[in-house]
Amino acid sequence: MKLNKEWHKEHKMPKNASFEERVHWHLEHQKHCKCAPIPKKLAEQMKEKGIKT
Ligand SMILES: [Zn+2]
Repeated sequence: MKLNKEWHKEHKMPKNASFEERVHWHLEHQKHCKCAPIPKKLAEQMKEKGIKT
């Protein structure tokens, strides 16, 4: 598992992130860093809404 420190420094997850913010964060995160996968629960919600993970 590689952590992209630079990316994380510049892309902090907002404290009270909305669903859309979390989705956006994780989609970007996925592209730049592999430290953690999208949480199962979020991935399921994204699937329900037809958002590709
Ligand atoms: Zn990461």
